[in-house]
Amino acid sequence: MNTNCGLLVSRCSVEIAQKICGYLTVQDIVLYASTARQNYIAFHDYLGTKRLRDTIGPFVPNVPRFLSALRTHSSVVSGSVALHFFDPAGNWVPEDMDIYVPSERKKKMLRFLETIGYYVVERGRIVPPAYQGGCGFYSVTTVCNGSKNIDVITAIGKASIAPIFRFHLSAVMNFLSADSFFCAYPTLTTEKKAIYNKSSFVNGEPSPSTVQAYIKYAERGYTLRRSPTEFGGDIEGHRCRRSLLCPLTVRNNFDAGCMIVSLRGGLNQVIHTQSDRVVCKQAAWQLGDTHCKTGDKYGSTHAFAYVKD
Ligand SMILES: [Zn+2]
Repeated sequence: MNTNCGLLVSRCSVEIAQKICGYLTVQDIVLYASTARQNYIAFHDYLGTKRLRDTIGPFVPNVPRFLSALRTHSSVVSGSVALHFFDPAGNWVPEDMDIYVPSERKKKMLRFLETIGYYVVERGRIVPPAYQGGCGFYSVTTVCNGSKNIDVITAIGKASIAPIFRFHLSAVMNFLSADSFFCAYPTLTTEKKAIYNKSSFVNGEPSPSTVQAYIKYAERGYTLRRSPTEFGGDIEGHRCRRSLLCPLTVRNNFDAGCMIVSLRGGLNQVIHTQSDRVVCKQAAWQLGDTHCKTGDKYGSTHAFAYVKD
């Protein structure tokens, strides 16, 4: 027995270790896994099997088959389900699942969902611009299997991940692909802190549905602010337009602030192979703010999000 890997893996049964993992965010698990090889193996196995099964399993009868469909159709799961995968310890569970698909794959994804017992309850409703929040998607088809709902959300263009960088809060800028989990703000999200994404604003204001979403996440225990400097504490290390948490910094999906966890190949590895075509898409975004506390001299900075097709 390896006694250098801490009490959790070396002394506890697999069942107890996995139960404790259920209270940790993916960020905590990645950090713990980096402490010893045995922890790495145990925690990686937990994320790619039990955590994945617990998160997706309530919605589909066969998780590997569902992941295979996600891979085939270059689609991702985002929204509440992806956040719940990141941090399942809250006192809420996702009510429905959001699948983001490229427009040309929508029919095939719907056909797959029919094969696993879902039927369309509302087809292709167009999202009015005032309620889209500039979100980079234009239609939502809701399917139901009698107990669970899945929203199939069509992204504009070929990149299913395009809408994610326009989501209303940093805490929901996450997605699960067939092979990986991506989180744009793992440290903030672990601390249940979230920054507004002004890319989601319409004419400089949050839409009514965006405000509803703010309320939902505040009720789930998240503290919402415009800038990390507004959370209080030590902001000495904050460098406007440089710090990865600053809303004026231009971020990209391969920078050091992001966490990409391969659910197959290994923890905390950035994937550059073609095996994960979704994650390999290049994205850049800026949350935007009128004045980050230490950055007044820069004045207003617009938000943007861009994903290469
Ligand atoms: Zn700043």
